[in-house]
Amino acid sequence: MTKHIFVTGGVVSSLGKGLTSASLGMLLEQHGLRVRMQKLDPYINVDPGTMSPYQHGEVYVLDDGSETDLDLGHYERFTSGPLTRDSNYTTGQIYLSVIEKERQGRFLGKTVQVIPHITNEIKSVIRKLGGDDVDVVITEIGGTVGDIESLPFLEAIRQFAQDVGRQQCLFIHLTLVPYLKAADELKTKPTQHSVGQLREIGIQPDVLVCRCERGISRDDREKIALFCNVPIDAVIEERDKDFSIYEVPLSLVDNQLDELVIKRLGLVAKPLELHAWLDLLHRLRNPQHEISIAVVGKYAEHRDAYKSIYEAIDHAGISQQAQIRIGRIQSGDVEREGAERLLGGYDGILVPGGFGERGVEGKVDAIQFARTRSIPFLGICLGMQCAVIEFGRNQVGLSKAHSTEFDKNTPDPVICLLDEQRNVTRVGGTMRLGNQPGVLTADSRAAAAYGSDSINERHRHRYEFNNDYRQRFEEHGLRFAGTSPDGALVEIVELPAHPWFVAVQYHPEFKSKPLLPHPLLRDFVGAAVRRRHHRDQTAVRPEK
Ligand code: GLN
Repeated sequence: MTKHIFVTGGVVSSLGKGLTSASLGMLLEQHGLRVRMQKLDPYINVDPGTMSPYQHGEVYVLDDGSETDLDLGHYERFTSGPLTRDSNYTTGQIYLSVIEKERQGRFLGKTVQVIPHITNEIKSVIRKLGGDDVDVVITEIGGTVGDIESLPFLEAIRQFAQDVGRQQCLFIHLTLVPYLKAADELKTKPTQHSVGQLREIGIQPDVLVCRCERGISRDDREKIALFCNVPIDAVIEERDKDFSIYEVPLSLVDNQLDELVIKRLGLVAKPLELHAWLDLLHRLRNPQHEISIAVVGKYAEHRDAYKSIYEAIDHAGISQQAQIRIGRIQSGDVEREGAERLLGGYDGILVPGGFGERGVEGKVDAIQFARTRSIPFLGICLGMQCAVIEFGRNQVGLSKAHSTEFDKNTPDPVICLLDEQRNVTRVGGTMRLGNQPGVLTADSRAAAAYGSDSINERHRHRYEFNNDYRQRFEEHGLRFAGTSPDGALVEIVELPAHPWFVAVQYHPEFKSKPLLPHPLLRDFVGAAVRRRHHRDQTAVRPEK
């Protein structure tokens, strides 16, 4: 029978519930258990696909094309269980489904209410993830205990434990134990209050994971245990990690969270196998090279907007033994201050995906700079479209080349709407989404990176390369290195004459894992390391 772990958060938001849940999932997998991860989000949007990156950070896309919360990226980077549409539900989706049933008359005229109809719907989406082939489901409840919005979810998980049996479930509460400088003390009161609130709703947490800047003394742990009604071995310290997020699982192991969970749920597990993970951290701590990569995007100042891209660059750095300083450059600043000034010192330039016109000219300038100065370049989605615009304008001689997303009347629409998008009027979930197959041109950079002639990559776009221009671009030196299997959609463009210039219509960052970096990012970073090396060798040194 599948066991269920519920992770809630208290005191403040941004405590890293997603990372803690993902780390626990990883540890249980490394104990030989079959784990599924799930996130329930209390907001009313039906999915994060139409939310601003400023509000919500990046939209994380799964193989099946669902547009999900960025915490699912953590899940995929740490664990290997499949994630699908069922791995992320919002309040909006839950209500939509209940209201659709009501419209179909499925409630036989009864009054439709939060309890039991909404809570039943929530319980059914949790139950969906269990099964004969699953040992543990970890369900993370978004938001903070005490929020009005998360109440139906908390009520549903309380009921769920009643339905399946309390011993089949484990409630983990992530809380904050702040350090108060004036008193020179750690404070346990916020934790006591937040657990108090959970208990009012009827949930007695089994384990408290306490985020803290400083170590929690035995006395403080005893106090938390006493006031919160948990055994002292269930008060787990999770100290801030300033080196790397990939240290979080180790800190949980040091505090024996994995053993505790296995014991409490009565799971039959193998001994923990952490060799590969320890090796990863060793490589992370002992880099052989130092390089810098500029990420030039519309939302570059916002940490979460390109979360998976930054992570994927880090994974590539680990595999190339390179410590990478990432410069987050706003494309609008490139327009104002010039590419030379902002990008001159970087060893590689990456232009990520995006929507909307603001900052597009800055991206085009950054790409021209990378192309003409032979700086390794990777373009992703809108980054590829901008690379095509730049090449069209400056190499093919189409001075007004543009995408019809930004200029409907351009004389040279080198990027235009996909046929399937022409009649779409709804905004949510209507792009070309999720895994799509592609084939690669032999002897291309992409084929060399993948070591294969076919790919399957995740997409999220409405516009594409306009095939009317293929021949002219080819004649001027652009290589079409990857297309859909029928040849109709361009997936990858490259410049064979450049040290490493590759741009792709899809999102490689969603498939990169710390132990398995994405081949394109790996080779991009490899090219940046070579460039750095060459520059260091040829640098003019002052005479002694
Ligand atoms: N806005 C572009 C499109 O819709 C690119 C999308 C993206 O970068 N994800 O095609």
